[in-house]
Amino acid sequence: MKKITSAIILSGLIAGCGSDTIKTQTNTKSLPETASCPTGKYGYTIAIHGGAGVMANLTEDQQAAHRETLTAALRIGTEQLDKGMSALDVVEQVVMFLEDDPKYNAGKGAVFSAAAENELDASIMDGRDRNAGSVAGVKTVRNPIRAARAVMENSRHVMLQGDGAESFAADQGLAIVEPAYFHTDHRYIQMQQKLERQKSEYRPFDGPASTRFGTVGAVVLDNCGNLAAGTSTGGLTAKKWGRVGDTPIIGAGTYADNRYCAISSTGTGEYFIRASIARDVCARRQYLGESLKDASDHMIHGVLTDMGGDGGIIAIDADGNHAFSFNTPGMYRGLARNGRIEEVEIYE
Ligand code: ASP
Repeated sequence: MKKITSAIILSGLIAGCGSDTIKTQTNTKSLPETASCPTGKYGYTIAIHGGAGVMANLTEDQQAAHRETLTAALRIGTEQLDKGMSALDVVEQVVMFLEDDPKYNAGKGAVFSAAAENELDASIMDGRDRNAGSVAGVKTVRNPIRAARAVMENSRHVMLQGDGAESFAADQGLAIVEPAYFHTDHRYIQMQQKLERQKSEYRPFDGPASTRFGTVGAVVLDNCGNLAAGTSTGGLTAKKWGRVGDTPIIGAGTYADNRYCAISSTGTGEYFIRASIARDVCARRQYLGESLKDASDHMIHGVLTDMGGDGGIIAIDADGNHAFSFNTPGMYRGLARNGRIEEVEIYE
């Protein structure tokens, strides 16, 4: 049993599954090991996304390819949950799978910055104790979601960025790659086109939404009744000046609290940060007693839309309810419950 420190009263939040512990930066309490939820005890739910946007020009083949990948990601998640794996482990595995897929703006296939680099952001949160970790602006970590989890579990911090985050990831024994690993031609061309358009006027959010979206995320309720959320992205095409979006910001891009909800966001991150979208969905449930769907729709179709922002969220709660809320024409998304894939959709 590893010792962890906490002043937080965890009873009631944490289902008592298994015997081992995880390590956090601020607790003295022991959390139950995550990988031993008895199968079928509560029933599980997994929701995933691959970004939100216009997606108007997708060919039939491209749509089919996305549906296939989202289905495969859900299968990985359901197989693991069937075996009793924890929400946290499943979030990590499913996000890793999507990071490795070049279709998405995360890991391999991430968008390029104006300096022709791939700068990756990711975060993860454990709904049992609201422990969280994130990395921003990493250029050599193959799977940023793994680095985020390592920050959460093996450092005293929540967020690491840049070179420091990379050396931490290397010290943790995570896979480190050459920056060229993340390169895809279509993302490189998107960046060149955007820079060309920006020659006349700098408009950070300009351009076809297909060049801005493709972030990936997962929210999971496991058989122990625990929630977890994770999100990973390359950010915005042709971003400058070390720009960081909502994805690594806990409360904006990612949030999980066993009592209220688990959220992963996608869209123009500046708005998600300004509106604390992910945390506020949970807060509306906490303070106003709203349903997951009402709270999600309020934040996306009310708050985000009123501010002029675009994007969406995937949300689940500890009762297995889910909500997909987005104000863009489409959001790559999927849902599975208790071994059954219930939804894989792109458009409204
Ligand atoms: N939210 C991400 C960011 O702003 C981008 C996205 O989800 O498409 O960095």
